[in-house]
This record gives sequence, C-alpha cells and structure tokens, in this order.
Amino acid sequence: MTIFDQFSKSRNWKEEERLVLDQVQRVADEVIAPKAAAYDKTGEFPWDSVNAVNELGLNAIFIPEEFGGAPMRLRLYLEVVEIISEACAATGIIYATNYHGMKPLIDMGTDEQRKRLLPKIAEGGLGALAITEATAGSDATGMKTRFTPDGDVIVINGSKLFISNGDVADLILLFGKWSEIDDPKAAISVLVLEKDTEGFSVIGKEEKMGHRASSTCALSFDNVRVPRANLIGEPGEGLNILLASLNKSRPSVAAHALGIARAAFKDLIAYSNERVQSHRKIIEFQASQFKIADLGSELVMTEVWLHYVADLIESGSDDYGVEASIAKMRGSDIAMRMAIECVQFHGGYGYCADYRAERLMRDAKITQIWEGANEIHRQLIGRSFIEK
Ligand SMILES: Cc1cc2nc3c(=O)[nH]c(=O)nc-3n(C[C@H](O)[C@H](O)[C@H](O)COP(=O)(O)OP(=O)(O)OC[C@H]3O[C@@H](n4cnc5c(N)ncnc54)[C@H](O)[C@@H]3O)c2cc1C
Repeated sequence: MTIFDQFSKSRNWKEEERLVLDQVQRVADEVIAPKAAAYDKTGEFPWDSVNAVNELGLNAIFIPEEFGGAPMRLRLYLEVVEIISEACAATGIIYATNYHGMKPLIDMGTDEQRKRLLPKIAEGGLGALAITEATAGSDATGMKTRFTPDGDVIVINGSKLFISNGDVADLILLFGKWSEIDDPKAAISVLVLEKDTEGFSVIGKEEKMGHRASSTCALSFDNVRVPRANLIGEPGEGLNILLASLNKSRPSVAAHALGIARAAFKDLIAYSNERVQSHRKIIEFQASQFKIADLGSELVMTEVWLHYVADLIESGSDDYGVEASIAKMRGSDIAMRMAIECVQFHGGYGYCADYRAERLMRDAKITQIWEGANEIHRQLIGRSFIEK
C-alpha cells in the first residue's frame, strides 16, 4: 500500500459521502477524462462533461436544503473538485466557478434572493464571479464598472475581463462601484446579474495556453437595468463581501490545483515504473527517487493542510484568510512543479501531445496567477507575522 492509499483510507468519509465520491470517480473515469484531450484541442466548451457533473446533482452539495440543495461537508465538496479536476482541469474550474460565484449569495443574500435565485443553480445552472477589469487585476479596488441607482432599479455601465463561465453563466455575481459614494474602496458593491438581461453582452473570448475548453470572457454592460432586489447587502458593502468570498473560494482553487498535481504525480509514477533505460526502470535511478520523494511528500502535506482549512471554516471560524492563502499558494505551486517534473520524467514524449503531461503543464500555470497571484499570497502570509 502506498502512502496515498493509506492517506485516502484515513479520511474517514461517511457512508453517504463515500457513495457520492464513488459516483463522481466513475463519471470522472468513464465520461470526463476520456474527452479531456479532445476538448483541450478544439477549445469547445465541454458540455458533455458539464452535463455529466450535473446529472449527479453536484451543485446541490454546496447549497442549503431550503433553497433546493442537499448540502454536504466542505471537505467533500473539495474532494469532488479534486477528482473532476484530475480528470479534466477545464471541467473542474467550470464546476468550481459555480461555487465561487454563488457562495457570497448563499452566505450573504437575503432569504428572498436565495429562494428566487438559488434553485436554478442547484438544478445545474452555471454561475460566474466577475471582479477583474482592465484596470483592476491584483488590486481589485481599481474597478470602474458603475452602479447607478434609479428608483427600484440599478443601472450598470462598464466592462469586465477574464470572466470564467462569462458566456454560459445563468447568474453572474458582479462587482462594481456605487455612483453615489465617492471613496473608491467604500463604493464597491455587489449584485446578481441574470442571463439575457438587455444591455449585457459578451464581447470577447480568450484563446488560452491551458484550460482551453473553459470559457474566459470579456463582458460589457451598457445601461443594463437590474432590479435593486438583486443587490447583495447594502451599497458599499462589496469590498467586505469580496474579501470574505475570496477567502472561501481559495480552498476551492487549491483543490482544483491539487487535482492537476495528482494527475501529474500518477502519470509520472506510472511512466517511471514502465520506462526502461540503461537496463533499469527510470524509477530505479536514485535521482528519480529523490525527486519523487520531494514531490509526493509535498502533495500529501498540502492535501492534509487543505482539509485542516476546510475543518477550520466549518468550525465557524471567521479568521482563516492566511490559512486559505497558504492552501492556494502551496496547492498551485506544487501543481506547477509536479506538471513540469511530469514532462521531464517523460523525456521527449512529455513534450508531445500523445501524453497528457504537456496538457497538465499548460493547465497548471494559471493556478499560480488567478484568485490572487501567488506573489500577493506570499505578501499576505508574510505580513501576518509582523508583530503589532
Ligand atoms: C483563465 C483565467 C480565468 C480567470 N477567471 C476569472 C474570473 O472568473 N473572475 C475574475 O474576476 N477574474 C478572473 N481572472 C482574472 C485573474 O484573477 C487575474 O488575472 C489575476 O487576479 C491577476 O490580475 P492581472 O492579470 O491583472 O495581473 P496584475 O495584477 O497586473 O499582475 C501582474 C504581475 O504583477 C504582480 N503583482 C501585482 N501586484 C503586486 C504586488 N502588490 N506585489 C507583488 N507583485 C504584484 C502579480 O503577481 C503578477 O505577477 C481570470 C484570469 C484568467 C487568465
């Protein structure tokens, strides 16, 4: 038994959780993974894989029962993200984006908003989270999208960039600035924009290095009128909501990155046990073993940390920002390192598309950039040790 089998057994999943995980693993192996290379090649949105995820009702696991869901533990949701992302990173991020976009509505919306908006997501609708703009990347407070109140309506003008699921989402959690508040940070507000609202358009779709099948879109808002009933919290509460929601989505992007790392580790181990050079399997060279020891240890330790963060969040703590940053930073760094080593272990074959190593390397890179570039997380983590 390897350390990974042992680790997997030690997780003590409840029986109903084990059932869900077995079903997800089956769909990942039989439906999602076999299609991943073709979707990557064409860049087509992976509807078959997304529909397979929805047939299992996987959005419901993070939505409260009274709004159409069937909630399960956060660590179960994270494991589901990992399994799907191991099979296909693009499908994994499409699924996780539903959670990233809808979690602020789940946690901070009113009952009226949640009853009206969440059931369609629980049934398999897609969500998006729209923060980034041309002038607002790592510093989200530079956003310029404007929310102007007009009686019972909010009028939206502006644009967003790099929005995952932007062209397919049923609901978009959209951040902008309240026109009546001058302070640029205090003006940030957030609302839910529903699909097909007049004046909302998708003006571009990125051609990307990896995650080619997931859509990453430029969005435009031209006098878009949204009922004021879709505002989450009060005008000006957006920055707090944004920071709180990023802390919740970071463990989820860490799980997605760890899915890629797991895929790369499995491929690297399988190949190094099979490939023979100089009359020996390449895993028998000590240089290979040292690398495998470092990579495997880092992977398993990061998984343990992610579960620690999940339990911390579920214990009701509201102070887990640094812990979430550590999970995001280490999860994405090991994904990138593992994917590079996976290519290296495969030699020349790793550089060619017959093996998935090259796709994993392309998919891994963005995990160090999105949801707070790792430079920002290093800053947040380091700063937390300054003595007051
Ligand atoms: C495929 C993809 C999907 C995405 N999905 C979404 C989405 O669904 N919703 C959404 O809102 N956004 C999304 N994004 C945007 C993503 O979150 C941003 O790209 C990211 O936050 C970085 O912003 P930026 O690209 O403007 O880089 P910049 O902020 O311009 O950063 C450029 C470089 O400077 C460094 N840097 C910046 N500030 C500092 C600092 N203070 N200290 C040290 N270094 C710094 C960064 O680390 C980085 O290396 C997505 C992006 C991509 C490519």
